[in-house]
Amino acid sequence: MELTFECPGCRMIDHTAEVESAERAVCRHCGAARELKAEAFDAEGSPRACPLCVGGDLYVRKDFSTAVGLAIVITGFAVAAAFWYYGRSSWAYSALAASVLLDAALHRLVPDVVVCYRCAGQLRGPGVNSGRRFRAFDLGTGERIRRERSGASGFPALGASPAAVEPDATADASAA
Ligand SMILES: [Zn+2]
Ligand SMILES: [Zn+2]
Repeated sequence: MELTFECPGCRMIDHTAEVESAERAVCRHCGAARELKAEAFDAEGSPRACPLCVGGDLYVRKDFSTAVGLAIVITGFAVAAAFWYYGRSSWAYSALAASVLLDAALHRLVPDVVVCYRCAGQLRGPGVNSGRRFRAFDLGTGERIRRERSGASGFPALGASPAAVEPDATADASAA
């Protein structure tokens, strides 16, 4: 399974192969490394949380850009229009039907990608959504996480001081 992530240091996109067994996600652009959490995977090696931020809020989508699907339909429409122009209406209908079928077939064939609401990390590979654990993007959840990230309910925003993170605060309290 492969993890694609945005580096919080340099904002570049990089990926880690075999993320189930990797200990750290290293950005090859700036060298920043982040620990990967093994507990994010269940006994079968399927993800149940994000290995980067351990957020349990993940959604699944097709690893298929909308642009590609749109291009197929537009091409089909253009071909159909050309057939129409030359008086071949049955060919025009066939071209339209073919483009719609091709689009539908691609949607069935393309694999799932599981995305973290919080850090936008993406997981790809067999078993990424085994048991259909994750659902499609939910606007409500997306909005809640966005508010949390902006600091409204205590979740440290990107770039916030590490002192604001919970574990440090409890460590200080027990030491005192
Ligand atoms: Zn980086
Ligand atoms: Zn995450």
